[in-house]
Amino acid sequence: MKRTNDSKGGGARTTVWVASDHCTPHHSALAGCDRASTRVLMIESLASWREKPYHKRKLVLIFAAMRGFADDLGADGWTVDYHAECDDLAAALAAHVASAVPTRVLTMMASDYGEIDRMRSALAIHDLEIAETPHANFVSTGDDFAELFSRGQARVTMENFYRKMRKKTGLLMEGGEPVGGAWNFDADNREPPKKGMRFPAEPIVPIRPHVRDVIAMVERLFPDHPGVIGDFDIPTTRADALAYADDFFAHRMDKFGPYEDAMVRGEARLYHSKLSAAINVGLLHPLELCERAELAYRNGDARLASVEGFVRQLIGWREYIWQTYWRLMPEYRDRNTLGADLPVPAFYLDGETDMACQREAHRFVRELGWAHHILRLMVLGNFALIAGIDPQAMTDWFWYMFVDGYDWVMAPNVIGMTLHADGGFVGTKPYAASANYINKMSDYCSGCRYDPKKTIGDDACPYNSLYWDFMARHEERFAKNMRMSLPIRNWRGRDPETKLAIRERAAELRAKLRAGERI
Ligand code: SF4
Repeated sequence: MKRTNDSKGGGARTTVWVASDHCTPHHSALAGCDRASTRVLMIESLASWREKPYHKRKLVLIFAAMRGFADDLGADGWTVDYHAECDDLAAALAAHVASAVPTRVLTMMASDYGEIDRMRSALAIHDLEIAETPHANFVSTGDDFAELFSRGQARVTMENFYRKMRKKTGLLMEGGEPVGGAWNFDADNREPPKKGMRFPAEPIVPIRPHVRDVIAMVERLFPDHPGVIGDFDIPTTRADALAYADDFFAHRMDKFGPYEDAMVRGEARLYHSKLSAAINVGLLHPLELCERAELAYRNGDARLASVEGFVRQLIGWREYIWQTYWRLMPEYRDRNTLGADLPVPAFYLDGETDMACQREAHRFVRELGWAHHILRLMVLGNFALIAGIDPQAMTDWFWYMFVDGYDWVMAPNVIGMTLHADGGFVGTKPYAASANYINKMSDYCSGCRYDPKKTIGDDACPYNSLYWDFMARHEERFAKNMRMSLPIRNWRGRDPETKLAIRERAAELRAKLRAGERI
């Protein structure tokens, strides 16, 4: 399907190739072009999306955002050469080159490593090169990151980088100092859930005709991909994404901070923004959202701890992992400092496990292609860390199953922050926790067949023995880490019989995981 016209007789010489996650009104390649002499090329490459088991909702988001963006560009006067349901990228490209006869091809910087090489080789047979313009959906530059390195640091800490970004953007700053007298209000953002908590209703996201078409296409062409599409509620146009953000700022922003780490049975979202999918596909810009958040604080509509936490996620953490990825790839993707080698557990594929917290997290992943950050980090990720799941396989799983996941997002988040497999570049200590943490921050344990207080025995929570076994397996390494001294001292202080029993229970669990059995 070609959504708009070709360019015969139009004298077009520039092609801007828009990638699937570059659906941004700030597209930097388009910014330097004029409508009369430019053709926008967009290709729905089915082969590349069939290569990996991507969640069906992720596929709907990507294709629908592309079609919505093409329509928006057309309405804005651009001529878009759109190739839908394209089985043969080379043929689509050849057709475009034949009709548009470009003398130059531009694209915005690819988000994932290796993507630009694939575009380059596809164009090479046409004797065309491709030039990249800067990525428009980030606030930082490689220089911002490099400058921190150049001060002689072995690693750049997120905290230093974040402060630099606050100064650079002026967000939540007053007279060169952070608003409220501190850079970080995380201490205020660790409330456990309260009994009977009620959360705002979900906004209605209109199912536009192009979304309906894409849902039918994904069901038809990707029937074996994981996940369900269900009532699709992810915005796929700029207008719908802005409306979704409006709803967050009106109903959730204020309480986002305190309950950021809370988990409540049956509640996927709580006060989280769920804006990451729209941001990472290009529909929303992190800076505009941070400015909205700051305005909410200045107007007295949202508390500072919530607003600062939200701003830190976007101009701090998101930018930090983006810069880490591009500075350390490609070798970063293969890091496995802790030598973890278990396969991804069977229940990460179908959600069938007796662990109530895991079952809930996998239900959200299956039905939404999304789970909030503490379910990712402390339920799904923490389990993979302490059980010793292969970091590359785990990164792939998060990338394929989450609607906001890309290689650039998941490599530093999973290999670095979650699995501590990067040698401590992203975080100086692993985010390892026993059932205590999940029991404190959720109401899952009361409905679980396992006992969060027990470490040994058939009904003992698997997180407990795996946690201590993790300390034992890496005792020598963690003993040298000041931030791990407490659990290591605790482990060393236990009597030999208890240690043996814990390690036997963990070995039994790990053997089951290795054999693909359920726990
Ligand atoms: Fe999860 Fe363990 Fe609590 Fe069950 S008891 S919900 S497995 S932390």
